[in-house]
This record gives sequence, structure tokens and C-alpha cells, in this order.
Amino acid sequence: MNAPFAELGLGPELLAELAALGYEEPTPIQKSAIPPLLEGRDLLGQAATGTGKTAAFALPLLQRVAGTKPPPLKPFVLILVPTRELAVQVSEAFHKYGKGLRATVVPIYGGQEFHRQIMGLKRGAHVVVATPGRALDHLRRGTLDLSSLQSVVLDEADEMLDMGFAEDLEAILKATPTTRQTALFSATLPPRIASIAERHLKNPARILIPRDKATKGSMPNVKQTAYIVPRAHKVAALGRVLDLESPTLALIFCRTRLEVDELAGRLAGRGYRVEALHGGMSQRERDRVMKKARGATVDLLVATDVAARGIDIDHITHVFNFDVPASPESYVHRIGRTGRAGREGAAITFASPREQRLLRNIESLTKQKILIASVPSPRDVKARRLDGTKDALRAVLTAGGLEGFRTVVDSLATEFDPLEVAAAAVRMAHEAEAGDAAQEDELDIPSTENFSKPRTFQREGYSESAPRDGARREKKSDGKPSKKKFDGGEGRPEKKTRGWDAPRGGKFAGRDSGEKQAAGAMTRIYIGAGTRMGIRPADLVGAIANEADVNPRGIGGIEIAESYSIVELPEPDVARVIKALRGATIRGRKVKVNRDLGIRK
Ligand code: AMP
Repeated sequence: MNAPFAELGLGPELLAELAALGYEEPTPIQKSAIPPLLEGRDLLGQAATGTGKTAAFALPLLQRVAGTKPPPLKPFVLILVPTRELAVQVSEAFHKYGKGLRATVVPIYGGQEFHRQIMGLKRGAHVVVATPGRALDHLRRGTLDLSSLQSVVLDEADEMLDMGFAEDLEAILKATPTTRQTALFSATLPPRIASIAERHLKNPARILIPRDKATKGSMPNVKQTAYIVPRAHKVAALGRVLDLESPTLALIFCRTRLEVDELAGRLAGRGYRVEALHGGMSQRERDRVMKKARGATVDLLVATDVAARGIDIDHITHVFNFDVPASPESYVHRIGRTGRAGREGAAITFASPREQRLLRNIESLTKQKILIASVPSPRDVKARRLDGTKDALRAVLTAGGLEGFRTVVDSLATEFDPLEVAAAAVRMAHEAEAGDAAQEDELDIPSTENFSKPRTFQREGYSESAPRDGARREKKSDGKPSKKKFDGGEGRPEKKTRGWDAPRGGKFAGRDSGEKQAAGAMTRIYIGAGTRMGIRPADLVGAIANEADVNPRGIGGIEIAESYSIVELPEPDVARVIKALRGATIRGRKVKVNRDLGIRK
């Protein structure tokens, strides 16, 4: 029985799934969103990826539609998300939570063949998770019928607007019953979102991040660093950072019991003395672990928030967040475990690119800077290890008593250069001391330069006074949604630029290309599809984000001419995007994609 979740009103099937997943307690957004959504109320929620937002709407909506067997031919729940990646993630989440309820979920997104999606829809589904463009395509083809819809969720609404989906969203909502329940989640709430909320939500429950509320309690003396690392590479990155930092005792936080057990196992496999700590363990087991930690026979404690609440150890030198915690309060609480009694401590957080926004929320609440650093390379780690060996040798040299060994050096020096002899001895000492673990993960961790530049981080910084690009432009146009989707550009009626920005005098105008260029090299690519094929900026952004898995925020200016389009991209993404788009279709057609050489046909 999972009491904290049961108190929110969730039924036994969902509680059983949550227990099996190792969730110990609801996150703040789940605590606030689940009860009103269960009641059938509309909801406006400010929440980013990583806060547990998906479960916050998936759990109550699943409970509301459960029990309909067989799955309905017209779906009851529709979740709209900006990207294919998210459609897959959200649909997997519904599947995972809804197993015991036998809920069926169909994801529909651009890039996948229609046939497969149509078959899925024909079989019937409780829940459809869709990107707006593809949902609209299905509506127009008559393969998606939203007339029985009970609930709709607009997930990451700000990102959907940024990608140019505003009109598609309106058209989709028009095809749903007015009696439906509507929930809107957005990481930021610029006026454009507020306007959508006003028009489509009825007396919504509001869950907003309070602004500028300083968190309670004083912040400890802790150096805060974050690494932006794709999830699949987090263990390798953690390994490198651990090698570099060599903590005396580190506390590593994970979200669930399962993650704690898995990570503890993997770290033990790397040779650390590790203990796991979570709410599923008996008091006796926990006491045993704590005793070991106090006695300094453990290097790493891997724990959930719930289990760590009972920890009272002074010599924790490092706190690691394997994921960004679901709320800034939890972050402050976690890092308060180190830097105690005036000691210095380090708090190190691993965030996936999508969780980066949470770091900003934390910064704005704690009013402290989190330094974004690059994951150390194997070379850095090796250099650090060599430093360790050097220190150890220095200690031996200082201690003296080497007479017995000098004879070995003397005799070898008749055959070899004495420096070579010394180097061989250092090598033996190094390998005995440090092993050759550095070679274990020569695996490349993808460069996170794009994500990790503090500049980019600040530019996207959330605060009402410095809203993101889309919002800033909204304000300029007196807060009303722009009627014209494209800005035709001065005297170039056949060319359409992405509608966020008025051209700034230069030949090429588009979304903050100047800013992006300053942040890193931008390259233009040529795509052989233009207005004649009905191409809109959203098609290009959608194709690039979905096919090449590129963060849409990184995309610069977009220019759409009659027969071609030019898109500005960060140089590191260019080859991947070209390859992906060459293998894909845009508006159902294969198109030519190249680096832009300035040649126009
Ligand atoms: P989301 O913000 O929806 O992307 O969720 C972020 C991650 O947190 C996902 O991996 C979820 O599986 C996980 N998660 C969501 N809710 C909880 C919870 N109450 N306890 C532990 N993990 C959770």
C-alpha cells in the first residue's frame, strides 16, 4: 500500500503500479494536480519536464477512463505534445502506469507512416498522445474522431507555440466537445499562454511556481555544479566525476527505489564501496547502512529522498543529484546534507538536456548560481589519477627509507636510462594504485557544449521580467495573438520567415539568429521544399526536431521561399539534420537537403 499516493484518491491498480515502479511519494506537482484532475476540473499548471508532470496528469486521467472494455473506438483522452520524442515518452508513461487498468494508448506523430497509426486508432484506444500537426492530419483524413473526448491535455504548451503550432491547436480543440476537461501545462506562462488558457479553460485549478519566494533556511556553504548529460550517459559521466572529485563520502540521490538499487549495483561494479538506502528497506537494514557510513567504511550512499531524511552524518563531502530533483525545495533539502558544521561541500547535479529548465527554477528560487560544467574527459580523469600517484610518490620520497630499493635502480641503470627506470616504477605504482579504470569508459559522452554554455543557459532564463523570445515579442504586439502566421518580410512577399521576429534589416531574418550566432557557429541548410508545397515554419521545425532529435530552441532563422527553404542550425547539429531529413519525408515527399551554398534554383 502506497499511503501518500492513496491519500490523493488513486485506486488500487494504480497504487500497485507505482509501488512496483519504486515511487515513494508524490512530487509537489503531483500532490497539487492529481486531486482536481480526478474531480474532473480544468487545470493550469506551470511545470517543466523533470517535475513528475507526466504522472501528474496521466494517473488521474487513467483512473477516470479505466474500466471501459474494450477500448473505445473514439478516444476519451488526448494529450498534445510538441515533439515526437515527447509523444513516445508520454505514451510510454501512460502504458507503464495504466498496465493494471488495461488502458490502451496510441501515439501518433509525424515521421511515422500513417498506416500503422490508422491501424492503432481503428483498434480503439483510451488515450491518444499526439503531436499537433499529425493529429490535425488524422482529423482531416477522418481517421481520428474526437467527438467522445472527455479530457485533453496541452503538454509543454509554450514549446508548442514556439514551434508554430498555435493554429493547429485551435483547430484540434474545435473538434472536441465543449464539455471536455482541459489541462494546460507549460514551463513558462507568457501572455500567449494566458490567452489560450483564458479561452479554453473553465475555472481552472491553478498550480503556479511562486515567484521570487526565497526558500526557507539558509543555504549551506556548498559549491554547486551541474553537468548536462543525456540520460543514457549519466552513469559514465557520474563515474568520471567521482574519479575526479574523489569524495570522502558522497550521497547520491535517485528518484525511485528501482533506480537506487540499479545505480548502487552499477557503482559497486566499478569498484566503489556502495550502500543503497530507500524506503523499501527495514529499519534494521537502514541502521546497518548508517553505521557503516559513520564508520567510514562506505564511499557512496545511494538514496531516495524519503530514505535520506533520516540521515545525520557530518562528513558528507559531496551530494550528487543523479536527476534534477522534482522541486527546488527538494534540491535545497538535498544539498543541505553536505557543507555542514562550516565545512565546505559540493553539490553536483546531472541534468538531461530537457531538465535544464529546472536548474533555472532552482537558481531563481535560491538566488544562487549553479555552474554548468563540461563532463571531464577520460584524459582529465587520467591526469587526475596521475596527480594522485605523484602525490603518493612524493610522500614515499619524503618518508625516505629507500636504501634497500636503490640497489635495484643502480643495477637497472647499467642497462637503461635512469629516467626510464623511474618512469617504469611510476607506471607500476600507478597501475597498482589507480588500476586502469580510465580505459573502461573511453566511450564518448556526447558533447554537451551546446547545452552547457552559461550564456545559453542565461538567455533562456526564466523570469517574468525576462521572458523567453516568444513572449517578448508577444508583448511588443500588445499581447494579442498575431493574426498573420508569417511575417512576409520587407518587400519580399513570396518569402516567409518564422513569425516570431520582424526582420532586422539584414537579408536573412528569423528567430534570434543574431543571438544564436553569437552563442556558437550557425550554419544554413537548404531544403528543397517551399511555399509551393505548403511548407510552414512549423513543418520544418517539427521535421528537424523530430527526425534529427534536435532541440527546437537551437534552431535559428527560417526563410521559406516558393521552391526552397533555408534554415539556420548550430553547426554541431548540421550533419545529423541533413542525414535525418534526407531519409525522411516532409509533407509526404522526399526533398533535397544540403548545406546552403547560396545557389538558388
Ligand atoms: P516528468 O517530469 O514527467 O518527465 O518525470 C520525470 C521522471 O520522474 C520520470 O522518469 C518519472 O518516471 C519520474 N517520477 C515521476 N513521479 C515520480 C515520483 N513520485 N517518484 C519518483 N519518480 C517519479
